[in-house]
Order: sequence, then C-alpha cells, then structure tokens
Amino acid sequence: MNMSAENLEEIKAEEGKRESINFIEEQLLKDLAEGKNGKKVQTRFPPEPNGYLHIGHAKAIALDFGLAEKYGGVCNLRMDDTNPQKEDTEYVEAIKRDIEWLGFKWGNIYYASDYFQQLWDFAVALIKKGRAYIDEQTAEQIAEQKGTPTQAGTNSPYRDRPVEENLRLFEEMNSGKMEPGKMVLRAKIDMASPNMHFRDPIMYRVLNMPHWRTGNKWNAYPMYDFTHGQCDYWEGVTHSWCTLEFVSHRPLYDLFVDWAKEVDGTDNPIDDNRPRQTEFNKLNLTHILLSKRNLLILVNEGVVNGWDDPRMPTICGFRRRGYSPEGILSFIDKIGYTKFDALNQMSLFESAVRDDLNKRAQRVSAVVNPVKLVIDNFPEGEVETYTAINNPENEADGTHEIEFSRELWIEREDFMEDAPKKFFRLGPGKQVRLKNSYIIECSENPEECIRKDADGNITEIHANLIPDTKTGQANSNMKIKGKTIHWVSCNHCLEAEVRNYDRLWMVENPRDEVAAYSKEHGDVRGIEAMRPFLNPNSLEIKKAYVEKWLATRKPMDYLQFQRIGYYNVDPDSTPEHLVFNRTVGLTDAWKKINK
Ligand code: ATP
Ligand code: MG
Repeated sequence: MNMSAENLEEIKAEEGKRESINFIEEQLLKDLAEGKNGKKVQTRFPPEPNGYLHIGHAKAIALDFGLAEKYGGVCNLRMDDTNPQKEDTEYVEAIKRDIEWLGFKWGNIYYASDYFQQLWDFAVALIKKGRAYIDEQTAEQIAEQKGTPTQAGTNSPYRDRPVEENLRLFEEMNSGKMEPGKMVLRAKIDMASPNMHFRDPIMYRVLNMPHWRTGNKWNAYPMYDFTHGQCDYWEGVTHSWCTLEFVSHRPLYDLFVDWAKEVDGTDNPIDDNRPRQTEFNKLNLTHILLSKRNLLILVNEGVVNGWDDPRMPTICGFRRRGYSPEGILSFIDKIGYTKFDALNQMSLFESAVRDDLNKRAQRVSAVVNPVKLVIDNFPEGEVETYTAINNPENEADGTHEIEFSRELWIEREDFMEDAPKKFFRLGPGKQVRLKNSYIIECSENPEECIRKDADGNITEIHANLIPDTKTGQANSNMKIKGKTIHWVSCNHCLEAEVRNYDRLWMVENPRDEVAAYSKEHGDVRGIEAMRPFLNPNSLEIKKAYVEKWLATRKPMDYLQFQRIGYYNVDPDSTPEHLVFNRTVGLTDAWKKINK
C-alpha cells in the first residue's frame, strides 16, 4: 500500500480497519494531519558500518523504510561513520546487500562524514556565539565534575575561555599535532541540568587517524550526539526513529537542531521544519546475543565461521540458515513496536518463519539417520518412477520424479525391534505405507526381518510389499495402523552433508547473564565472559542420503525434508558435494526436550 499524504482520511479509515497501528505510525499520522514538515515523510536508517546488520536492525529497517514507503515518502540510508577506528567498507557493502535482501530500497546513501565540514563550521559558529569551549581537563576530571542525576556537576575551569582562544585551540585539535585526549570541544549548556546529557556534552575529540572516506583531512572528529540530529536536519529528515536508549538524548538532539536552525537563520516557529525523534523498544530474543560489538567477538574468536555463519543472528546468517525475508518481516510485524523493553521468545520467531517456509519450501525426501530396508518381493534391478508434488501449498511449483527400487534407505528411528503396540512405524509384524508408494509389512519373526552385525547393531531390515496398494490401485484404500514413512532408493540417491544447528547460547538471556558474570568475575570482558554460556555443541555435521532431484537445487533454495524439518542449500554446496543447513524443525523440538 503506497499512499500520498494527501488522502489522510482514507489512510485513517484504512488503518481503523486494522486491529491497531503502532504508536509511531499514530504519531506520524498526527504530524501529517497537522501539516508538519509540509506533510512530507522522510526517514533514515542510520547504521554504523562497524559490523554486519542483525535481526534487531531488521526491526528498525522495517519501520524506517516501511512507513516511508507506505506514506509516499523516502527513506535514505545514512552511514553513521564517525568512529574511523572501527569502520570499514566491507561493512558498508554488507549493509546495503542485507537491506536489499530484506526487500527495501533507499532513496540516497549519505554518510555522516559527508557533513564533517558542515559540522566543523557549525561548531565554529557555536564557539563564536559563546556556546562551546575547549576543555583541557583529562577524561577522568571531566567525569568527576559531571555530578550525579541528583547532584549538580561543577563547571570546568576552562568554561569561560575567550572566544579567540577557543577558536585557536579548536584549529589545533585538528592539526594532527595534538595528542588524543588532551583537549575536547564541549557545548556550554548547564552543569546543573537534571538531564546528564546537558552537562556540557563533548562535541569533538582528537583521534589523529585517517578516515576511510575523508583520508587525512580530519584529525578531530564529531561525537554521535553532535552529529546525528544535525545530519537529520540538514538532510530534511522529518521523522527520526531510534531505540529507547536514546530517550534521554532527545532534549540534546532538539537543542542542537534549535542551534542549527538559529545559525542558518531558519528558527521560525511558523515554519516548523525539523526532524522529530521518537524511540521504540529494541528487538531482543531469547538465546540470542545482539549488538555488532558482541557479534564481532564471536567472529574474531572463531566461535562461529564468520558473520554469515547460520548460527549468527545477523541478517546474512539468517539468510544462509534458510529463513526468508518474508518470514523475518512477518515476525517483526507480530511483535510490533512499543515503549517497553521486551525479551521475545525464539519459539515465536521460529513459528513465524515456519509458517512462511510452509508456503514456499519444496518437499523432498532425505534420510538423515539411515538404515537399509530391503523389499524382498520386489525384483532386483527393477525400478519404478513416481511423481512427487513439489509443494502442496503451491501447485505452480510443479512436480518431480523419484525412483523406487528393491533397496531403500529409511530413518533408523522408523524401525523398532521391540516395538510397543502404540509404535505406528515399522517393526516385526507391523505395516506402514512408503510415501508415494506401496504398503509394506515386516514378518512377525524378528529373525526374518532383522539383520545385525557382530555388535548387535541393526544393519538391514527386510520387508515385503503388499501388491496393488499404490495410489489408484485396487488395494490402495487398505486400512493399516501404521503411518506413512519416507525413504530414498539406495541406487538412486546421493550422499549429502547435513549441518544441524542448535542454540548458540545455552541461556535464555545471554545479554544479562554475560553482564552479571563479568561483574562477578572482576569485570572480565569479551570472550571470557561469554564462554560459560556458549553451547559447545551448536553444530552437528551428519551424512545423509537424499533423492537425486536435490542436485538440481540452487544455493539458498528453501526445502522441506519431509517429516524431518526445513532445510536449505548451503552456498558451499556443489553437485559433487551437496550441503544442506537445517533451518528449523517442523515443530518445536527444543520446547519438547526442555519441558
Ligand atoms: P549494535 O550495538 O547492535 O551495533 P547499534 O544501535 O549500535 O546496534 P547502529 O548500527 O548504530 O546499531 O544502529 C542502526 C539503527 O538500528 C539504529 O537506529 C538503532 O537504534 C537500530 N537498532 C540497533 N539494534 C536494534 C535492535 N536490537 N532492535 C531494534 N533496532 C535496533
Ligand atoms: Mg552503534
């Protein structure tokens, strides 16, 4: 749905039909109704290119791009690149790829570094207005003077430095000869403000390092708080949505925008053109740790095999794992946007992606824990070919062929030697239907239907087919107690590598557990604080037998191994060495095990 801001009544009527719209959209509608920003909608998605995007970012993306699109506006991509020590073009490219994969389009791409000159000039203007000063105190001294939320801070002894001196020192900060940490530029606001961000926040610091975009031009760089709001304002952003930790930054955001309007002479209350910041709750999921900083540690420490490891909560990890963009976005739509921190259940995410995969996955036969089944009354060397439906949810996906012969692989779990009455699969004296094929039965006599090796392991199962029991044949409606089991023909299947994943984190809330552990253990950081909570068995590699048709599937294709789970083709897969990732089970196995 793409609507222009003109037909507001229509939009509202449309929205009224839905159960609820989130408070951000409500605010947006109100702003449009009041004619703010000339009824324009312009948003931005502002990642810092210091890592790959994760599922949390998908929530911000869905809002920033989604609402702009819905109301006929534009969302720009803004690389928030004010920390040259951590950033890289590799990340910029990955961010673009991931947004596109999720299905969104940006208007323009901007970089905070595009504004370095403008920010510098603005800072100079503020110095000239007596609104900023150079502080020569150490970081510790500045921190000590900050006070507490209930206790006013104290003014820096450098607070009233003459303008000329401030201007000269500001130039020196950027000369490349100033030692980092020796001086900072601070805004002169209010050291007694109840909002700690107003207690003379730092605007500029010396880094003395080149920037990957601006080269050696700058040695002093602006802080986030002195960058974001002005970039929004200069770009013409109308709505600046961000997460809850920025609530307390908002007054400073507004103040810097006020100052910017004043400096460029547009501080006219009638022409209320300004960006408006609104905060929503972060996405946080059980058994997952977000934040690029943490994810970088997992990559650097080799806990996972790169940013796109299917165990990673990154967008590229989820993509490789086999979740679809539609599945991810449907989950985000379900959890919505609120003003309260939440921890959502991973099972809710899995159920959303499972619903989506059910619609798009191609049904195939694969045996992941194989044991051989011999159909004694089916002639050796003979082959029957069946037509298998690719996707019962979508006829257009067509069919493919699957071969049946005397020797088959079936799942070891589908046979039981001492099967109880309620075991409706194969065992001595039991009958089952083979998917797409005959009803078969095992002899009552275990000696006749089971072969074992010297250690007593079952190596082969023997059964007989019941004639004319295939679909459409005379005995096809024969009633049996057993279920339908899947199989692949030994002579017509391919060997494949199957990668099964388990939770990377053993605890529900790794974020809090890691933080608590760090506190209890002398402030240990990084991997040391994470290790106790990481699941050492999060990846299991198995050999499986799959039907031949799978060699024709492309990397990232969505599959359902019937009766086993959703899988996809890994990019590592080649026709000679097939590799599949388990995306998610058919039902919630984790819940069952942990009941
Ligand atoms: P991280 O610490 O994970 O790197 P960040 O907030 O520093 O996250 P940025 O790249 O700076 O990440 O953020 C880009 C946008 O994504 C911001 O608007 C931020 O608020 C939003 N964002 C980040 N994490 C989440 C999350 N878990 N849920 C929703 N939005 C998020
Ligand atoms: Mg950040």
